[in-house]
Amino acid sequence: MFTLPPLPYADNALEPVISANTISFHYGKHHRTYVDNLNNLVKGTEFDGATLESVIDATAGKADKAPLFNNAAQIWNHTFYWHSMRHGGGGKPSGKLAQMIDAAFGNYDEFRKQFSATTVSQFGSGWGWLVVDGGALKVVKTGNAEVPFTKGQKPLLTIDVWEHAYYLDHQNKRAAYVDAVIDRLLNWDFAAANLAKA
Ligand code: MN
Repeated sequence: MFTLPPLPYADNALEPVISANTISFHYGKHHRTYVDNLNNLVKGTEFDGATLESVIDATAGKADKAPLFNNAAQIWNHTFYWHSMRHGGGGKPSGKLAQMIDAAFGNYDEFRKQFSATTVSQFGSGWGWLVVDGGALKVVKTGNAEVPFTKGQKPLLTIDVWEHAYYLDHQNKRAAYVDAVIDRLLNWDFAAANLAKA
């Protein structure tokens, strides 16, 4: 059985950028529904008892397995998203991440600009990501449930830009939501832990 991982903070910890009301729907309904859907889809199949990552890897890019991929990847993406943020986060990282940002983007402000622009420009539903690709940092976007790690990129942070992520709090102002996540919520400790494993 796949289970809904616990939220790593209280439901109001990300306010005012992301309200407890948004969390109640986004985590409590959307994320939970992906878990329920996947459990129903794997019943009696070769994927019963498999890990989430193995379901994602085995179904990526296969049209006849799209429901399995979409629900498995969305469980993974949302768990990664919740950990990509924390109360009092955002701003410049330090240490190795700061050096890698300077190496890849020139400076933090240029990184911030590119991460925001790339994420905001995802057409329709999807995700913005900071990844390690070939040893260097890169900002990328993916559509719908797509994950960077099936293409060999190691994710460090993500921002959900499906409308359900921001519409209750920011309505159509996607850029305001993305910039507030970058400036006030990004969890650089999580990024550093992912970098250490990359
Ligand atoms: Mn979402």
